[in-house]
Amino acid sequence: MGIFNLFGAGTFRHGVHPPSHKAATAHQPIRRLPFPDHLVIPLNQHIGKPAKLLVKKGQEVVRGEPLASADGFVSVPIHAPATGRIRDIRLMPSARGEQAMAIILHVYAAATQEVLWRNPVDPGALDPQGMIQAIQDTGMVGLGGAAFPSHVKLSIPEEKSVDTLVVNGCECEPYLSCDHRTMLEHPRELMRGIRYAMQATGVSKAIVGVEENKMDAVKLLREHLHAQSDISVEAVETKYPQGSEKMLIKSLMGREVPAGGIPLDIGVVVNNVGTLAALGKLLPVGEGLTERVVTVTGPGVEKPGNYIIPLGTPIGYVLKQVGYIGGENEFILGGPMMGPSVSDMETPVTKGTSGLLVLNEPEIEQETRRIWPCIKCGRCLNACPMHLNPAYLGLLAAKREYEEMAQTYHLNDCFECGCCSYVCPSNIPLVQHFRIAKAINREQAA
Ligand code: SF4
Ligand code: SF4
Repeated sequence: MGIFNLFGAGTFRHGVHPPSHKAATAHQPIRRLPFPDHLVIPLNQHIGKPAKLLVKKGQEVVRGEPLASADGFVSVPIHAPATGRIRDIRLMPSARGEQAMAIILHVYAAATQEVLWRNPVDPGALDPQGMIQAIQDTGMVGLGGAAFPSHVKLSIPEEKSVDTLVVNGCECEPYLSCDHRTMLEHPRELMRGIRYAMQATGVSKAIVGVEENKMDAVKLLREHLHAQSDISVEAVETKYPQGSEKMLIKSLMGREVPAGGIPLDIGVVVNNVGTLAALGKLLPVGEGLTERVVTVTGPGVEKPGNYIIPLGTPIGYVLKQVGYIGGENEFILGGPMMGPSVSDMETPVTKGTSGLLVLNEPEIEQETRRIWPCIKCGRCLNACPMHLNPAYLGLLAAKREYEEMAQTYHLNDCFECGCCSYVCPSNIPLVQHFRIAKAINREQAA
């Protein structure tokens, strides 16, 4: 049995309530951006092995055509987001910080938005294995930001049994509203995608979890259920990080993923609403993922909104289209709690880019952001949804006792939500310390 807040919505213990900042974009319909004159298309837009190149410099390609194929099971193909000619294939800046091999596509000036390459399938005729293959062929990954290949997530190992698909419509990160708009504008595609995911996994039940601040989406999706009693739509408390898999499962079902475990261990598979809506749109017509909805917002943006943006569009071009005000700004890909900051304007929008935030940082804030010693206030302990001791982990990190952090203080259960850093009055960048500690432990293990 789960726990509930005062209004009866499911929830989890701890977490934080940052200001939502969603009003500027949540009530406007999704709009489409034009093509830039070139696209930067990395081969590793997903977790797993980078895709294998299928094209060469100088080659002409049409919108939707595969540019790279999946290199093994934990990999996905990449499709041309526009019609044009391959200008180059070389290292380019990426959202992950390091340079990554990318295809530079010169987009023809008169290129149409129509997709010109398709490989249609009949979803009704597919067995679970066929459905997994069809999902991989779309190049779909988790659009919530994780970019984990969807077909891998929906492949249930023989030794596991799964009974429930949890559909994540929380969108708990401040500023982001692309999932909210997708639920409102594409409920049919979402329901279709949920059916495909149920077909692939063989589960008999799906629960869509949506935060209480999106009751219009809850109402609309419920209207689309008709008599489908195997799918339900539930409101959960608006609280960060409600959209993390473990928290959402706890809030909706009262089940707890064991330490070091994954949702499959307790019979659950989780997918994001944006991912399933895109799957519901692309799979039956045999199209690959060539574009996505991105929330572009923040105090530095003149025309905030949700935009359909071709994959590979440089963020500099996006900012020009939405009217970038300029000044002291920080550019974040995704939400402000977990998204990385980027500085190179050639960094492209990729499959995992849910948001582009332009945040002003007045100088006065720089002063208040000075780091002070830990005052042992305990706020980080009360915020951590994984019930860790971030203050002590922070002290160990300062002493570089990374192994001890993992072995005795469960560092690997930290999923880097940032709640501890958010509440810390001493501005200690706890989550950054934990990221570094984990990376060093991984390196040493390798
Ligand atoms: S970043 Fe890690 S330690 Fe900090 S609150 Fe989130 S899960 Fe807990
Ligand atoms: S919130 Fe910051 S100051 Fe308070 S106990 Fe945690 S690390 Fe220390």
